[in-house]
Amino acid sequence: MEKLSTVGHLINGKKIEDTQRTQAVYNPSNGIVSKQVALASKQTVEEAISAAQAAFPAWKNTPPLRRARVMFKFKELLEQHTEEIAQLIGEEHGKILHDAKGELQRGIEVVEYACGAPELLKGDYTKNVGPDIDSWSDFVPLGVVAGITPFNFPTMVPLWMIPMALVCGNTFVLKPSERDPSSTMFIGELMCQAGLPNGVFNIVNGDKEAVDTLLTDSRVQAVSFVGSTPIAEYIYQTAAAYGKRCQALGGAKNHAIVMPDADLDNVVNSLLGAAFGSSGERCMALSVAVTVGKDIGDQLISNLSNAMAKLKCGPYANNSNDFGPLITQAHKDKVVAHITSAEQQGATIIVDGRNISVSGFEEGFYVGATLIDHVKPDMDSYKAEIFGPVLQVIRVETMADALQLINNHEYGNGTCIYTRDGEAARYFCDNVMVGMVGVNVPLPVPVAYHSFGGWKRSLFGDLHVYGQDGIRFYTRRKTITQRWPSSSLREGAQFSMPNL
Ligand code: NAD
Repeated sequence: MEKLSTVGHLINGKKIEDTQRTQAVYNPSNGIVSKQVALASKQTVEEAISAAQAAFPAWKNTPPLRRARVMFKFKELLEQHTEEIAQLIGEEHGKILHDAKGELQRGIEVVEYACGAPELLKGDYTKNVGPDIDSWSDFVPLGVVAGITPFNFPTMVPLWMIPMALVCGNTFVLKPSERDPSSTMFIGELMCQAGLPNGVFNIVNGDKEAVDTLLTDSRVQAVSFVGSTPIAEYIYQTAAAYGKRCQALGGAKNHAIVMPDADLDNVVNSLLGAAFGSSGERCMALSVAVTVGKDIGDQLISNLSNAMAKLKCGPYANNSNDFGPLITQAHKDKVVAHITSAEQQGATIIVDGRNISVSGFEEGFYVGATLIDHVKPDMDSYKAEIFGPVLQVIRVETMADALQLINNHEYGNGTCIYTRDGEAARYFCDNVMVGMVGVNVPLPVPVAYHSFGGWKRSLFGDLHVYGQDGIRFYTRRKTITQRWPSSSLREGAQFSMPNL
């Protein structure tokens, strides 16, 4: 039997294999193990931190324009290698190639934003804050920073962090998801080829041992995390206990309110993509539709189930498929168990994806698009983040009931209202306790020059990722107040607070 290749680490510009512990990486489209990934030891992670620490002084003093030039080159390389990157994402994540390219494009947009580093890092300057006194504030890099990323966007989420951190003058250690590490490794190599000095950017693959080393090593100044809520909470608490700055983005349960005046064709079309695209493995997936009023619920269910009959679920490499498999067999079992629990607790399964079989790919981790009606807020399937191709429908009488439902949920990542009524939409935007809100826009993911983040238990920390918040997260402010008195103007000592 052919020996499987192992995805190692990228430290100080070199690929390293620390293969004492490894884990299987699957091709979820056919259920076959395609590679092994090395799980870094504490010592390997410490080597990566040392490399980043050694590279920091020179990188910090590299002019922002030169740091930005590396990002210009990196963007060019990402575009040149789009096909290979999409292929690697598809092979290990399972998302269809068209969707994999979409993910990469959203990541490239953050690289483009980071190319504006000289402008973004200019700081503020005021001449004459007092007689002959000038003051300015700078954005100073933190030092070695770390990122820990989830499986569902193996290139986009790392790209939310790395370009921002690097153009700000930090050096970086990334711990990608161990479930689909190859595309992340590939873009890391491209970043080094783009002209980064050795040690500025490093990747360690691994599990809890690697993460805990990053969280507790005193040389790491800040941690960005994206993943599930229980781990996000753990990361935030541990990082804080070790005196680190931390932003930890967690899970989600995103509701779409469908008002009685909504354009139903638009609702159905956009719900299909937002609920089932990428197999529902998106933190912004719309997984609950809340219908308001008497008639719209039945109509929505009927139109949705007709449209769902045409959806195609299958392997990543066939671009005519709408969505692919789930990431692992264990995750498939979890999603199926959620559907079964909804049924057992009294909901109605309208379209059932539990027993789907994809011809020629019978061992793949597929669950078909599933529609569940008459879901109630106390059901386990409603409370949990399912993270699969499952859309649940809850019927309420008024918009106030819908808002209350959303505001009572522990998660607050994304939401959307479908309506033709501007006043209702405005009221919704003002009163919903969610970080990213759409009005007739199903997946309101902020563009690269805004910032991404949820509320409540969808984000631990103060700042969102990328955009202006990204600059703030990866720098600390230093404010300098300066006077050059002429020798003839010497003053005596002052004992009260200076009042300029
Ligand atoms: P996960 O929490 O299982 O893993 C995320 C990262 O944490 C991985 O790198 C993993 O190796 C590491 N990790 C896992 N268990 C750990 C432990 N016990 N101790 C330390 N580190 C650990 O998440 P996932 O399954 O890879 O990704 C899906 C989740 O990510 C979903 O909940 C999804 O909503 C969330 N997500 C959120 C956002 C957002 O912006 N809010 C974006 C993408 C994904």
